[in-house]
Amino acid sequence: MADPRQLLTPVHLPRRERQPACHERPLTSEAHVSIVVVLGFVGLLFLGSRVLPGPVVQGAESHAGGCPQYRLNGMKLFLLSVVMAGAAWIWAPHLLAYPARNSGELLVAANVFAFALATALYVRGRCGSPPGRRSSPARALVDYVRGVELNPAWGGVDLKLFSYRPSLIALFLFNVSYLAAQYLDGGSVSGRMALYQVLFFIYIANYFQFEGGMIYTWDILAERFGWMLVWGDFVLVPFFYSLPGRTLVDVHEPLPLWAGISCTLLFLTGFWLFRGANEQKHRFKQDRGITIWGRPAETVGGKLLVSGFWGLGRKLNYTGELLVYTSWTVLCGTASLAPYLVLLFLAGLFVHRAHRDDKRCRAKYGAVWQEYCRRARFRMVPFLY
Ligand code: NDP
Repeated sequence: MADPRQLLTPVHLPRRERQPACHERPLTSEAHVSIVVVLGFVGLLFLGSRVLPGPVVQGAESHAGGCPQYRLNGMKLFLLSVVMAGAAWIWAPHLLAYPARNSGELLVAANVFAFALATALYVRGRCGSPPGRRSSPARALVDYVRGVELNPAWGGVDLKLFSYRPSLIALFLFNVSYLAAQYLDGGSVSGRMALYQVLFFIYIANYFQFEGGMIYTWDILAERFGWMLVWGDFVLVPFFYSLPGRTLVDVHEPLPLWAGISCTLLFLTGFWLFRGANEQKHRFKQDRGITIWGRPAETVGGKLLVSGFWGLGRKLNYTGELLVYTSWTVLCGTASLAPYLVLLFLAGLFVHRAHRDDKRCRAKYGAVWQEYCRRARFRMVPFLY
């Protein structure tokens, strides 16, 4: 039987011809090729979102009135991407490593795409908005950044929900491209890289499994669709959130067994909190009579859930997600500061978001929210914050 301590040492695959490391390669791809790649990638996913079957669900009542409908076929698109990435790993690993080798050009192309899409959304939104809205340049800038329309749809596809698909599938493809790059560069895959891939894969696959739950999230319910969300989806998430993977390409120290187990336990704890809290709220929004942890769900004023995770803290879903990101960031050790910037950014984002959501809920629920805050005293860290 294999010594379990060897599980986390580098996995040696059949050695192929050594390729120059990322930093030794000249930038070969022309900018226009990257634009075509980005357009083709988003276009294919958009087409897939239009034609692939999937359950159609009614969204929550939108803040602009009406209930949008969503077809949930993101999981099918993700699985197709996984199969294609698997085929590329076997037959064309250089193709799989393309994003890792050309991330600079792709970053430029993704920015061009994001700014163009935000402009198109702005023009479309302003054409359909009342004349009073078309006044000052400051207002125009706010509209460009924050968006004009709450639920823009093209060809029957809701653009806000759709945009999470290229965002997370691109993040998955960047991750596997770093895996391919490490393998092609050195002929092996490190234990750190392997664990990073497994944990991140579970996180992304679970997003698609839970795609229906997104319709009760703040961005879908309340944010208009403009540059801020577009740039976040098409640039920030795939390029910035994959920084730990990029760093791990050049980290070859074996991962001690205790460290691998600790990272996995941290991931599982965070995942339990993050997914558990989101799932409890999702079920509650659909049916107020649910049971949570074996008991009927308790509410404040019949409107806010105060059972399960939502009774322990008001934003434990954010805490859980931070733990999940921490679990794979620490795999990078001290090789680079860059992956820790992602954690810092997310911590800031969640604290700011928790404040904004608090303000919004206070305005929406009034005394009921106050009572809820009295029952669930802490936001993200019980007894601390
Ligand atoms: P929430 O899922 O916490 O949604 C907030 C809304 O839920 C509130 O506005 C309110 O809306 C409702 N709500 C709040 N408390 C209760 C309660 N006790 N009972 C019932 N309803 C309640 O936040 P987000 O939408 O910001 O985040 C969703 C997920 O997305 C989180 O897991 C977060 O971690 C993740 N996320 C990830 C990001 C990333 O970059 N990785 C960025 C942003 C979010 P209502 O008016 O409907 O009652």
